[in-house]
Amino acid sequence: MSIAYKQYLQGGGEMGALTRAFNWSDTLIGSPQNWSQSLLTTVSILLNSRFPMFLWWGEELIQFYNDAYRPSLGKEGKHPAALGQRGADCWQEIWPVIYPLIAQVMAGGESSWSENQLIPIYRNGELEDVYWTFSYSRVNDESGKPGGVLVICNETTKQVTSFNELKQAKMELDFAIEAAELGTWDLDPVTNTFIGNERLKSWFGISADAEIALSKATEVISEDDRDAVLKAIAEAMQPSSGGHYDIEYTIINPLMPSPRLVRAKGKALFDADGVVYRFSGTMEDITSERSNQLELAESNQRLEMALDAAMLGSYDLDVRSGKMNSTPQFKTNFGKEPEETFDLEDLMKSILPAYRSTVREIIARCVREQNVYVADYPICWPDGSIHWIRAHGKPEYDAKGRIDRIIGVAEDITGDVTIRKELERVYEQARLSKQAAQMGTFDMDLENETMEWDERCRTLFGISHNDKVIYERDFLEGLHPEDNERIRAAIDRAFNKTVSDGDYDVEYRTIGQEDQKLRWVKAKGKVYFSPSGLPIRFIGSVLDITEQKLDELRKNDFIGMVSHELKTPLTTIKAYTQVGRLLAESLDHEKLSKTLERTERQIRKMTTMINGFLNVSRFESGKIQLNYETFDIDKLIIETVSDLNLFGTSHHINYRASGPALLQGDRDKIASVLSNLIGNAIKYSPAMSVITITCIPGSEAIEISVSDNGPGIKVSDQEKLFERYYRVEDKRMPTISGFGIGLYLSAEIVRWHNGTIGVKSTPGDGATFYFSLPIQPF
Ligand code: ADP
Repeated sequence: MSIAYKQYLQGGGEMGALTRAFNWSDTLIGSPQNWSQSLLTTVSILLNSRFPMFLWWGEELIQFYNDAYRPSLGKEGKHPAALGQRGADCWQEIWPVIYPLIAQVMAGGESSWSENQLIPIYRNGELEDVYWTFSYSRVNDESGKPGGVLVICNETTKQVTSFNELKQAKMELDFAIEAAELGTWDLDPVTNTFIGNERLKSWFGISADAEIALSKATEVISEDDRDAVLKAIAEAMQPSSGGHYDIEYTIINPLMPSPRLVRAKGKALFDADGVVYRFSGTMEDITSERSNQLELAESNQRLEMALDAAMLGSYDLDVRSGKMNSTPQFKTNFGKEPEETFDLEDLMKSILPAYRSTVREIIARCVREQNVYVADYPICWPDGSIHWIRAHGKPEYDAKGRIDRIIGVAEDITGDVTIRKELERVYEQARLSKQAAQMGTFDMDLENETMEWDERCRTLFGISHNDKVIYERDFLEGLHPEDNERIRAAIDRAFNKTVSDGDYDVEYRTIGQEDQKLRWVKAKGKVYFSPSGLPIRFIGSVLDITEQKLDELRKNDFIGMVSHELKTPLTTIKAYTQVGRLLAESLDHEKLSKTLERTERQIRKMTTMINGFLNVSRFESGKIQLNYETFDIDKLIIETVSDLNLFGTSHHINYRASGPALLQGDRDKIASVLSNLIGNAIKYSPAMSVITITCIPGSEAIEISVSDNGPGIKVSDQEKLFERYYRVEDKRMPTISGFGIGLYLSAEIVRWHNGTIGVKSTPGDGATFYFSLPIQPF
């Protein structure tokens, strides 16, 4: 027996070796020598089976298992301790599940069979979900009673997991098909029938459970598409096509309200002989997608046509890369060929350099302020011509709020700009000429009751406020009271189309609202009428003619005065000549001689006057000629004074002679200066008063002065006396005839000699006129 038992334990690989080496005498079933035939036979079968087997034996359910079973115990876990172990000790974690099965079999019950049952066991360092298909069958001992339970099992974890995974994948696929609202189909190439999901069948108008004959399905395909579909199916079933099937067609199903556009995609599979054994795929309803696409395409096309009609080019700028997608029209607007690439950098280069930074700034601001931008800028075309572009753009931002792109349009506005530039030029010209003419403008909008005055217009009315100008307050009240009525009448006339045709041309005075200054204004304007003849707009210009007016007034006064002055001696001459004729007739020679002498004096006076005027015009036209000579001015003064005394004078002229005083100059002209000053002293001081003349020769210059005891001259007048035509007006004094040219001429003569002239006077205490002449003027 001892040798025989060893035979039963032979073989069995690792588990055979372990079983043989195991000290079985420590267990309740004892050493193998004493094992029953039944146990030995079962262990022998177990060790040598390639099927995973496990045995519980005896009262304590001592365990045996083979190499095929061993992997189920994992790398770290129950193996090898499970060999010879008591079942209850080994399987603590699942004992409540399996013991009832064991007990049932041990109690003589039927063998049990379980398929893909989840029995988690501890292995590989953790509790794992393990699936088993197993049977428990009873092994009797020699006495015919149950000795143990043989478990023939198979771990099906892998199969179950892949089945579950497959199931999951199928679910997901179904879900995806559902979500994508796809139809699915599977064609049997042998019978030419196919099965499809419900959705597909409803599209084809076929009841849910029916198998579909291909011929029936093709009936609902629109006639236009049918041949193409059949051809595509036939092609896909040829191995040369690679089995691809992808086609769009229309289904016209009488049960559906409108035709349905579908896209069918599929794949045919071929066996080794190139015979198709499966052909399946999906179908998608693209009716609304396509109509949306068509609508979108249509609206895009409409937009494009509208853009083209307006010659607007559109662009889409990727801000980060500077790449630009633009329409052919856009490129044309920049002088480029439609097929050329045209990115931001090219665009910037085409802008005239002086405008680049402004354009950049405008775009940067629109990005910053999240606003639409509009920019007009000049560009240079490749052919060198300058064009104006008006570009619009709208910034788009990404989810993080960063600038992503700018989308917009650009048009060539060269024509408009040229007009605008031309207008600007005309305006500028008008502004400049207005400025040059010192002209102001007014614009009265009678419809909106507004009145616009420019700066000069306001100045003419003495207004400094910037508020709205009001017709009554600022215009009418600003008019000189004496002109007010006349101007109102002129405006009324201009506003009456029937009498004036809208023309307005007047001159008036204004009294400055704030400065109270009197100004003369010349205004010209035009009233524009509505078709019904109502005045709607009154536009015109105003010119400050104050100076001109004052000049005119002065001239009139002057002419009046000159006429008067010349008329007096003429009347006298006329009277003397008449008297002279009578005296000649009466041969009273003495009286005749006296009369002729008086006539001569009047003629001399007139000659002096006329010479004075001639000299003024000579000085002003620069035609004066000086005849230089060296002469003694002391002598000249003595001569002048004695001449005056000779002709008789009402004053005491007192000259303290200085002795010889030589200088270089025009003797006659200086003589006229002297007689002018002495003449004035006589004219403007009381009769019998003293006039003192001095002459002080210096080393470089000689100073001459003429002092009188007249009323003197106010300081404010002193500096003006030497101006042309200036005369001191004093209403309290009797008017003394004169033109205000004597001192002017004197000053001019002295100036031509490089000398100086002036006056010192205390009003009420006489005046001293002096002049100083250099001995050597040049
Ligand atoms: P006219 O004497 O012809 O008016 P003038 O040029 O000689 O012209 O003088 C200008 C003005 O100067 C005179 O009108 C007068 O008012 C003032 N004037 C000139 N000389 C004197 C003087 N000696 N005393 C006071 N006033 C004088």
